[in-house]
Amino acid sequence: MNAAPRRARASPPQPSPRGGEGALQTASHSAALASTTHGGGPEEQAAVAHRAVLTSPPCGGGRAGEAPHVGIAGAGLAGRLLAWRLLRAGLRVSLFDAHARTDRSSAGPTAAAMLSPTAELAAADAQIHALGVASLDIWPQWLGELHAQTGREVYFRREGTLVVAHAADAGALDHYAALLRAHLPAVTPAAHQLTALLPEGRAPDTPIAPAGLAATPFSTAILPPAQPWVRQTEAVMQPVDGAHIAALEPLLAGRFARGLLLPQEGQLANDQLYAALAAALDAGLATCGGVWHEGLAIEQVEAAVLVDAHGTRHGFDLAVDCRGVGSRGELPGLHGVRGEVLTVFAPGISLRRPVRLIHPRYALYVAPRPGSQFIVGATELDSEDAGPPTLRSTLELGSALYSLHPEFGEARVLRLAAALRPALPDHRPMAGRGADGVWRINGLFRHGYLIAPALVRQMAADIVAAFAVERVTPPDAPVLDASGAASHIQPPTPTQPQAA
Ligand SMILES: Cc1cc2nc3c(=O)[nH]c(=O)nc-3n(C[C@H](O)[C@H](O)[C@H](O)COP(=O)(O)OP(=O)(O)OC[C@H]3O[C@@H](n4cnc5c(N)ncnc54)[C@H](O)[C@@H]3O)c2cc1C
Repeated sequence: MNAAPRRARASPPQPSPRGGEGALQTASHSAALASTTHGGGPEEQAAVAHRAVLTSPPCGGGRAGEAPHVGIAGAGLAGRLLAWRLLRAGLRVSLFDAHARTDRSSAGPTAAAMLSPTAELAAADAQIHALGVASLDIWPQWLGELHAQTGREVYFRREGTLVVAHAADAGALDHYAALLRAHLPAVTPAAHQLTALLPEGRAPDTPIAPAGLAATPFSTAILPPAQPWVRQTEAVMQPVDGAHIAALEPLLAGRFARGLLLPQEGQLANDQLYAALAAALDAGLATCGGVWHEGLAIEQVEAAVLVDAHGTRHGFDLAVDCRGVGSRGELPGLHGVRGEVLTVFAPGISLRRPVRLIHPRYALYVAPRPGSQFIVGATELDSEDAGPPTLRSTLELGSALYSLHPEFGEARVLRLAAALRPALPDHRPMAGRGADGVWRINGLFRHGYLIAPALVRQMAADIVAAFAVERVTPPDAPVLDASGAASHIQPPTPTQPQAA
């Protein structure tokens, strides 16, 4: 059902009796989302909503097609994850992407997919670290669910990251270690500690978005609850000597005298993740309803409407913008940060974990992948040029690999790729509902795989909760259609949201 790219409709979508893409249905749900007309105070409304949630059937339980319908622009990392979680919660979802599902030109399929909350502290703040720590605990659970749903394994390892430097670069290694130590929160940030995490001048309720766009503040609920164990520096960063390095990675025996082990880190294979999510989405769309429009760009996102490149308006109950750098022009300050990666095939060479090579001019890493493949990344260039990798970057990536071990000299080059990371001016993510009514996840920058699960889980829960409130609208309440005229239409049938 989702294979062929879809052509735009010749005329605007009509209201669907099952609440499909259509303006009338959208207006009803949106109006209800904005303000419920049910009588009683907030507590009574919440109780009614709660009862509705508890007693309603899940999608596919004989009422498929009647659940609220969410339109998502962008089927990249954030879009796929969110669509999957919403389908699992019983909502209907339609996805739109400018490219086919197998396209590899955007950031998601290009990334190395390292999950490095500690190493990233050299370039990111404690908020990213906290989201990363939370996400590292979510990934295994979600990958297990994906496997149960699709039968597909996604390569996921959590054996830490080894950081090494050649003897001549020992000073750079010391500097890197000092940087991490300075930025590392002494204990796991708990919700009540959020204030302490925020950079100077940023109040706890400051929206994590450019002014005026996102009304949703950085929710303390996004942060992980306090853990029973304390993440002290030693637990996340251990100095290692040559013998320890050799024990961890026999390939590197005798090559490096000092390094750091960041034990909690991990990585996954994003090509496998994308394929597994696609399979899960196909299954979810078949059960709950919705369409994956491939090769259909969205030019504009409104609160409940996606406007495609042909000017066709697709109406939903709620719209989410997950277009990454494709949202440039609509999000002030959003820009692309160019990154390049090299993938090689090196049979007979083995690494158990990603290795970061510290160098005074660049910090690159080599991450093992299934099938004797290694991904070397990543450059970071302040450029929006999405063209092929440059010779300079190719030399840097290749040199890093070769200097890790000369045996990599015989590795076969499988792929050289470049893509743009979506970044906001402060290099922090935004996730939530904007003052314009549009839900957005963007600005994941160089941390998409690291932090997306925590952000997506929160947004999926918020969206499900928004519809739970919506459902207290009395069945016969007049609602306004897109033109403002009152009409009576069937309210959405309650679904049974599950834990998103
Ligand atoms: C070289 C490189 C290495 C990286 N390494 C890591 C790493 O090791 N660890 C990590 O955590 N992160 C890494 N990242 C970052 C990570 O890839 C991004 O943060 C993440 O992919 C952003 O997810 P997204 O869904 O917001 O955007 P994307 O993944 O870019 O997805 C956006 C989607 O929107 C679609 N789209 C765009 N415009 C439109 C439109 N007009 N209409 C419809 N669809 C549209 C695109 O086709 C795409 O499918 C790396 C990125 C790069 C480039």
